[in-house]
Parts: sequence; structure tokens; C-alpha cells
Amino acid sequence: MILDQFKLDGKVAIVTGAGRGIGQAYAVGLAEAGADVAIVDVIDMDETIAAIEKLGRRAIGIKADLSKGEKEAPKIVAKVVKAFKKVDILVNNAGIIRREPFAEHSAKNWNDVIAINLSTPFFLSQAVVRQMQKQGRGGKIINIASMLSFQGGILVPGYAASKGGIKSLTMLMANELSKDGICVNAIAPGYIATANTAPIRADKKRNKAILDRIPAGRWGTPDDLKGICVFLAAPASDYMTGYTYACDGGWLAR
Ligand code: NAP
Repeated sequence: MILDQFKLDGKVAIVTGAGRGIGQAYAVGLAEAGADVAIVDVIDMDETIAAIEKLGRRAIGIKADLSKGEKEAPKIVAKVVKAFKKVDILVNNAGIIRREPFAEHSAKNWNDVIAINLSTPFFLSQAVVRQMQKQGRGGKIINIASMLSFQGGILVPGYAASKGGIKSLTMLMANELSKDGICVNAIAPGYIATANTAPIRADKKRNKAILDRIPAGRWGTPDDLKGICVFLAAPASDYMTGYTYACDGGWLAR
């Protein structure tokens, strides 16, 4: 039955940056579909863990600084395997944004954004793929892209470059990993109300310009993204790989 193909019972997922915001919604959505979830963040993760446990699923929190992905990735995967014995799903969600004009964009801002948004998904995916290959039962990797995987944006050079890179990396991973039964896709959220976008929502002029351009006429919420995440993690999407899916209230259609 088709609805059974959306179930994640018995699966183990890792979601980064899931202490709050969109990552928290992904983690809870995957648990609602049946998965046990390891969440990774620098901030307190109690709220997300409690929400997952309330659903009768298991959750662990792994505190790690994802600006140091090369060093942290193998340790994160080892902790998940120790707790849950395997990894079936990875959601590379943690991300940051630094707003500064191109000519003034500092080396620190550029390096911080590229490290967390692009390099760490690479290193963590690599560590997870090695584990999935050992398990021999395939898996699902979901990268988090952006409208700026398709557009240039303004004032966010590091962010635009990192999210363009994520879209390309998603295609390369799909090409190389399909033979192992590993599907790799990306979600490109539109304008979602989180701490990340608080500064532009507080700017009345910017907020109005954004709302006027969104066909749905409202900001998205983290919960709006749960469905696409569960779909891309579930058997229902087994023949889909290498693509970046917008969930944007119609923004890219304008
Ligand atoms: P958010 O509210 O800022 O949450 C991101 C989470 O990642 C936070 O808990 C954050 O912790 C954590 N994080 C940041 N740096 C970290 C590090 N070095 N190590 C470990 N964890 C770290 O962001 P969001 O809006 O939910 O965005 C989540 C993802 O969606 C990002 O990849 C973002 O680019 C993408 N996205 C968001 C939107 C949007 O409109 N909100 C649109 C398109 C794409 P701290 O609190 O310490 O920062």
C-alpha cells in the first residue's frame, strides 16, 4: 500500500542543527514517520529530544561544533552507531548566514559559512556513506539547499556560494552513490520564519517586498518542510536522486 512507503519504522536518522528551527521540524517529522533520531547541534537539544521521545521514538543529542566537520564527522557517526547500531538517513541541515556587501565580506565570514554550509555536509556525508556501504542496505541523504542555489541574492556571497555548491555536490553524490542504493537529494526551502531570517522579517520594507513576491502570500514555517523531508527519506522516493526540490510557496515560479 502506498502509505506504507512513507513509513520509517526501524530506521535511524541523523539531523544536524536540530536543536531549533527547521532542523527541529525535520527531526520531529522523521520521528513521527517512525524513525529514531540522533540530533547534532552546538545548542541545547532537550526540547527536540523531548518531542521525539513523546512520540515513543528514541533520540540522542550529540553536541558538536559543525564548523570543524572534518574532525567531528567520524566521531558523530561512531556515536550514532554505538547508540543505534546503524545509520539509514542523514539530513545535513545546520547552516549559517552572514550578511555583508560583497566588497566588504570578510575572510572570516566567508570561511565560517563555507565550512558549516558546504564543507561539513561533505565530510559528514562521507563518513555516513562509508557506514552505509558497510551496512550494504543503501540509504538516504538529504542536503539543505536554498533559493540561493538557483538565484544570486544580495549581501550574502558566502551563503550563495555554499548553497550553489550544495546543489552541485548533491548531483555528484547521486551519480557516484546510486550503485550502492544511496539516494541523495536536496531540499531548497523558500522564505521560512526562523531565527535565521529574523533580521529580514524585522525590516518592514524588505519583509513587504518578500511577501509581495511569494505567491502563497505568507512566510513558510518549519512544519511546512516536514512532508518533503519524510518523502525524501522514505521508500516512496526510491527512484528519485540527484535533484534539489524547492518548497517555497511558489517563489521560484515568479
Ligand atoms: P537556525 O534557526 O539558525 O538553526 C540552525 C541550527 O544550526 C541552530 O540550532 C544553530 O545553532 C545550528 N548551528 C549553527 N552553527 C552550528 C555549528 N557550528 N555547529 C553545530 N550546529 C550549528 O536556521 P534555520 O533557519 O532553521 O536554517 C536551517 C537550514 O535551512 C540552514 O542550512 C539554512 O541555510 C537553510 N535555509 C533556511 C531558510 C530560512 O528561510 N530560514 C531558507 C533556506 C534555507 P546556533 O543557534 O548556535 O546558531
